[in-house]
Amino acid sequence: MKKIPLHWKIIIGMTIGIIFGFIMNAVSGQKFVTDWIAPFGTIFINLLKLIAVPLILASLIKGISDLKDISKIRDMGLRTISIYIGTTLVAIIIGLSIVNLVKPGTGMPIETIEKIKLKYENDAGVVDKITKATATKDAGPLQPLVDIFPSNIIQSMGETKMLQVIFFALFVGICLLLIPEEKAKPMINIFDSLNEVVMKMVDLIMLFAPYAVFALMANVIIAFDDTEILLKLLQYALCVVAGLSLMIGFYLILIKTYTKKSPLWFLNRISPAQLLAFSTSSSAATLPVTMERVEEHIGVDKEVSGFVLPVGATVNMDGTSLYQGIAAVFIMQVIWPEGLSFTNQLVIVLTALLASIGSAAVPSAGMVMLVIVLESINFPSELLPIGLALIFAVDRPLDMCRTVVNVTGDATVSMLVAKSLDKLHDPKPKQWDDNYEAV
Ligand code: ASP
Repeated sequence: MKKIPLHWKIIIGMTIGIIFGFIMNAVSGQKFVTDWIAPFGTIFINLLKLIAVPLILASLIKGISDLKDISKIRDMGLRTISIYIGTTLVAIIIGLSIVNLVKPGTGMPIETIEKIKLKYENDAGVVDKITKATATKDAGPLQPLVDIFPSNIIQSMGETKMLQVIFFALFVGICLLLIPEEKAKPMINIFDSLNEVVMKMVDLIMLFAPYAVFALMANVIIAFDDTEILLKLLQYALCVVAGLSLMIGFYLILIKTYTKKSPLWFLNRISPAQLLAFSTSSSAATLPVTMERVEEHIGVDKEVSGFVLPVGATVNMDGTSLYQGIAAVFIMQVIWPEGLSFTNQLVIVLTALLASIGSAAVPSAGMVMLVIVLESINFPSELLPIGLALIFAVDRPLDMCRTVVNVTGDATVSMLVAKSLDKLHDPKPKQWDDNYEAV
C-alpha cells in the first residue's frame, strides 16, 4: 500500500465513495451517510482550514524577508496580478465562445423549464444565493478594497479572511526587511520553523485523504436525487466541462512553453491538490495541499508560492469565471433571449472577471456572484430565481470541476512567476524526511 502513489490512493477512495453513495441511494441509506460517514469528510476539511492561516503567515513572512529587496516584491506582485487577469480573460472568452457556438439553452422544451421552475424556484439554496448576492452588492463599490485592510488581525484569522491575512503578512515581512538584520533574525527563524511544522502537518493530514475523499464523495452522491433533470441539463454541463478542459490544456501549453517542464510531470505532481479541489469544492480548503505540492514537488521557491498561491486562491478563479460566462448566457438563451446582445456579452466579460475576483474560495460561491453578473446586464429581477433554478441541479458537480481549474490555474501561475524570477528549481527531497514521496 505504501508504494501506491498518493494520487492513486485518493482516486481509489473517491471511486469507492461514489459507488458507496449510489448503493446508499438505492437502499435509502442517505441518513446513514449523513450521520456516520460525512462527518469524517468535515473533520478533514476542518484540519486543512486549520492550517491554512498559519501556513500563509509563515510562508509569506519568511518568503518576503528572504527576498531582501522591496522592489522585488513590487515586481512579483505586478507580474502575478497581470498574469492572473490575463488567464481569467482567456477563461471567460473560452466560455463565451463555447456557449455561443453550442447554444445549449435554445430549444429547451417548455415542460422541462416548468418542471425545473416548480422544483427549484423556491428552493432554500436558490433563495440563499440571491440574498447573499444582494448583500454583497449593497455594500458599495469600494467595499472590496476596504475589506483588504484588517482592523483586528486575530478576528481576520478567526474568520479566515485570506486577503487581510496576506496584507498583514506582507506588512510584517516588509518591516522585517526594514529593521536591522540582527533584530529581524529571531522572528524570521520562528516563522521558518513554523513553516516546516505546518508543512509536516499537511503531510500527516494527507495520510487521511483517501478515506476523507471517500466520505466527501459518498455525501455528494446522496444529494443527486433527480437524474431526469440532470440529464436535461447535460448539454449545458458538458459545455462547462469542455471549457474547463480547454483551460487545463491552455495551462499545460503555458507550462511547456515557458518552463520547459512536461505536462505529465506537472500533472503527476499537482494531482493530489486537484483531486482534493474536486472532492472539497473549495480552493481555500485545498490551499495547504496546493502549497505543499508546488513548493516541495514542483520546486517553486517559498517567496513566490507564499505570495502567489494564497492571493490566487482568493482572487484568481479561472474556472469560476468561465462557468459564470457560460451559465449567464445559457440562462439568457432559455428565459431571456432578447438580452443576448454583443454589448451584454462584453459587459459579462468585465463583470465575470470582477465577480470571480470577488467570489469566496468556498463551495458554490461562484453561483452567488453569478447573480451579480446577471444583474449587471439588467437581467429582469423577477426572472432571477428561475434563472438560478435552471442551473441549480447540476451546480455541485460543476463546482467540483471549476474548483480543479481554479487550483490548477494558481499552481500554473506560481510556476510562471517563479520561472520569470529565476525561482523555479528542481524539487529536492528533504534529507531528514524519510517519508518524502518523490512522485
Ligand atoms: N468553489 C469554488 C472555489 O472554491 C468557487 C466557486 O466557483 O464556487 O474555488
